[in-house]
Amino acid sequence: MKKRMFLKLSSTLMTGAALMNISCSPEKSTNSLRNWAGNLSYGTASVFEPATVEEAQQIVRKCSRLRTLGTRHCFNRIADSQDNLLSTKNLNSLISLDAQAKTVTVGGGMRYGELCQHLHQNGFAIHNLASLPHISVAGACATATHGSGVKNGNLATGVSALEFISANGELVSLSREKDGDNFYGAVVGLGCLGVVTKVTLDLIPTFSMQQEVYLNLPMSQLESHFDEIMSAGYSVSLFTDWQTTNVNQVWIKRKIVDGESYQPPKEFFGATLATKNVHPIIEISAENCTEQMSVTAPWFDRLPHFKMGFTPSSGEELQAEYFVPRRQAVAAMQAVQAMKDEINPLLMISEVRTIAADNLWMSPCFQQDSVAIHFTLNQKTKDVMKFLPKLEEKLSPFGVRPHWGKLFTMDTAQLQTRYKRLGDFKQLVKRYDPAGKFVNEFINANLYGAT
Ligand SMILES: Cc1cc2nc3c(=O)[nH]c(=O)nc-3n(C[C@H](O)[C@H](O)[C@H](O)COP(=O)(O)OP(=O)(O)OC[C@H]3O[C@@H](n4cnc5c(N)ncnc54)[C@H](O)[C@@H]3O)c2cc1C
Repeated sequence: MKKRMFLKLSSTLMTGAALMNISCSPEKSTNSLRNWAGNLSYGTASVFEPATVEEAQQIVRKCSRLRTLGTRHCFNRIADSQDNLLSTKNLNSLISLDAQAKTVTVGGGMRYGELCQHLHQNGFAIHNLASLPHISVAGACATATHGSGVKNGNLATGVSALEFISANGELVSLSREKDGDNFYGAVVGLGCLGVVTKVTLDLIPTFSMQQEVYLNLPMSQLESHFDEIMSAGYSVSLFTDWQTTNVNQVWIKRKIVDGESYQPPKEFFGATLATKNVHPIIEISAENCTEQMSVTAPWFDRLPHFKMGFTPSSGEELQAEYFVPRRQAVAAMQAVQAMKDEINPLLMISEVRTIAADNLWMSPCFQQDSVAIHFTLNQKTKDVMKFLPKLEEKLSPFGVRPHWGKLFTMDTAQLQTRYKRLGDFKQLVKRYDPAGKFVNEFINANLYGAT
């Protein structure tokens, strides 16, 4: 059966009265649904698109193996299944905004981009966004997706409560207030606890921002001013191709205080203020990027680098990203730069961001102020997969942790030693999924050490 036909049939099946007859015998196809980057096809064509939480519960009850799918932006097989996928595409409603408690509750499939405007209109914001607004809230939090900012935790740190369907089809609610430590285990859940149907996020008052870009920051400035540079705004990113002794671009996103925009100086630690909007990959038109040049706009139009409705990043690409302790940022960057000749044929651009420490057990920033060194790479999968082990070895002395949603090759045993609470996480997973219904090959290989 053709993919489109199957999806059409399956969504009709899921939304009709015939739901009670859901069969979970998977329809296999080697050429099924692909991830956003197109570098992988998921291992099954059995894709359910429930329209309601009740339908999702029935699907969970009937399937013996299942994985939840958000907006498909991961580059590795973390979201994959050989059996069944449950897409949260239609579980994307805005459930409630509690102005008193300063929280918003959304369906797990809600994309950040769909939520932000509404929050702003009601006088609210969330603390940070990733480089793109296209991703689902539950999918982003499940992998500890982050933006930048020395004081900003990753997006999952803004979650105050979760509701998910556990393996027996029952709804489970956990909150920061009520469930303490276990809650911190569940938020970066890697899709292992069940299907997240509701996420409650902390709100802060809405705010305006401006962003400016500086070109050609001498790397030597980072050696003595790294913290100062990365603290120059609410969120700061360095973009570089590692090829010269300069960082190519510094993006500074500032909060506007008391309605007064900031006039940036023409020079910043030896870098020069850009005179027009730029794309992080300088050769690409800046049309898809959020406006720079210190033009004021609401937070959601400045925190991401890319506009909703436009292709983020470059499109046909691969991504890898590694977290190291912030205090070792410069040494880690120097280790990467020492590989500049090997990186050059594969790299489109690198980005360096800061993320504040958190208490989320499976977060790469668990109890550690971190720096994330990101690589947007050409879609030469074989070459990239040969290169990543060398890069990981260079970063190994820094106790490197990879991004859960991007490519990595790190040895399982080594990876597991980097997560102090992994044993507790496995216990938590067992409580909600005793038979491993939500465990896929990626989870098996990386958390349980088996393929
Ligand atoms: C162009 C581009 C730019 C990116 N920029 C950033 C960035 O700035 N910062 C960053 O940190 N990352 C970034 N990423 C990576 C991205 O944020 C993560 O891969 C994120 O997890 C994607 O969310 P998703 O909804 O697409 O998840 P999917 O890829 O669909 O799923 C990811 C994981 O979440 C689980 N999951 C999804 N929904 C649910 C649910 N409702 N319940 C339970 N589990 C669920 C899946 O099972 C899977 O394990 C970028 C990716 C792309 C393609």
